[in-house]
Amino acid sequence: MRFHIMTLFPEMVMQGLNTSIIGRAAEKELLSIEAVNIRDYTLDKHKKVDDYPYGGGAGMLMQAQPVYDTWKSIVDRVGYRPRTIYLTPQGTTFTQPMAKEFAKEKDLIFLCGHYEGIDERVLEEIVTDYVSIGDYVLTGGELPAMVMVDAISRMVPGVLNNEISGVTESFEGDLLEYPQYSRPEEWHGKCVPEVLLSGNQKKIDGWRREEAVRRTKERRLDMYLRYMELQECLEHLKKQKLLHMDMIELINRGQARLVYAKGTSICLQDKASGIYFHTAQTSEEGRSALQALCEDAKVNGEVESFVLHQDFMREIAAKMLDAKELMSCYQAVYTKKEKLPITGLYRLDGKKQDGVVKICPLNLEYLDIVTANYHTVDDTDYMKERIEKGWMFGAFIENELAGFAGMHTEGSIGMLEVLPQYRGRHIGKALETYMINLSLEHGMIPYGQVADGNEVSTRLQETLGLCFSKTMIYWMGKKL
Ligand code: SAM
Repeated sequence: MRFHIMTLFPEMVMQGLNTSIIGRAAEKELLSIEAVNIRDYTLDKHKKVDDYPYGGGAGMLMQAQPVYDTWKSIVDRVGYRPRTIYLTPQGTTFTQPMAKEFAKEKDLIFLCGHYEGIDERVLEEIVTDYVSIGDYVLTGGELPAMVMVDAISRMVPGVLNNEISGVTESFEGDLLEYPQYSRPEEWHGKCVPEVLLSGNQKKIDGWRREEAVRRTKERRLDMYLRYMELQECLEHLKKQKLLHMDMIELINRGQARLVYAKGTSICLQDKASGIYFHTAQTSEEGRSALQALCEDAKVNGEVESFVLHQDFMREIAAKMLDAKELMSCYQAVYTKKEKLPITGLYRLDGKKQDGVVKICPLNLEYLDIVTANYHTVDDTDYMKERIEKGWMFGAFIENELAGFAGMHTEGSIGMLEVLPQYRGRHIGKALETYMINLSLEHGMIPYGQVADGNEVSTRLQETLGLCFSKTMIYWMGKKL
């Protein structure tokens, strides 16, 4: 990821960003940051970059020419027009989902204003996003740019040492983070809550969840109310647990955004993938939820697929949304809490042993093999993203890749493939077992989706004791 910051104060930006985690990530070449001095591009012989606003008014304005030429020099260098963010108190307020979204870009250009702002004409030509960091006015855009670069960088794979912390902390889910304590056990007469010293992970998780709910209610009532609405949906969804496991897990994992809920008709959007999930008991209710989905998609504008949970909605959705069916699947859910035994399948410590499968996260070296062997999702960028996020795992025999499996963005286990020459050696079972146990370690309910008629996968899931939904779900695709 490459950040290009257009500023009148390059030293300020570079000094601020060259320290700590972001500095280290730049050193490791996970990202690069450059500050480009707008003053270097002015055609004025006195190096002036500002002038009085037409029509009068307080202060000076940055002129169009130096700003445009600075931007153009970056665009010429990178060879395309990257998203260009103007930091302004008049923009959309910056949020964690926006940080995540911006982190998908290869390059980002930031434009830091000064004085009273910038000539409107150049903004019209180069800016793609207007972003504010809050409802207050600062003297310049440098601090806001640094805030954004920091938040976006943390979303770039590999920047945080502990990848999980990026998933569990405040704003990632629907709740603020629980309180945390470190040594000593007692400080200023205050003791660390006993439960945290108990060693009982289940109790600790329960306590943390309660504290997170309490804290969110106290400090962010808006977030708490949204959370409670989702909890209500959860109650409805649990009435057909197996069928709705994808939606249930979206809520449990803090990935769900509520689009519509009325009676038993619910529409959620997965915040990570943008995919919509729809369920309804009657076609009339179902239509209303689809209508809400359509309107929501018009605002958010970039979603291509959605999932239906009832047969009778297929035709209605196809007509209403001009959509086509992509796939019909059964949900396969691992309903037990205990991990599966791994004896004889793979080494838990990941070490090599003759003839024994070693399972470990895949790196991009294996992208070509993965895309050449896995065809259900024909999207190299998606597979690349899954590998980069650390959610694709390979099974190795004698250092050769024998098969792979992973977790989809919306949370189902899948992308399981055993290379032809390694079939019949329980490698699929080893991979599936690994994914189930890994999900349990992360506090997730492991589930996958088995395409109608895929007998090999059905048998594997049955062997491992997964339960199947009675009816199917339907993946639909369309340009919304
Ligand atoms: N006259 C401008 C207005 O009312 O919108 C404010 C200009 S401000 C004094 C100077 C520069 O600081 C802006 O061009 C912008 O780049 C930056 N800035 C100030 N407050 C900001 C905020 N809350 N978020 C993002 N950028 C901000």
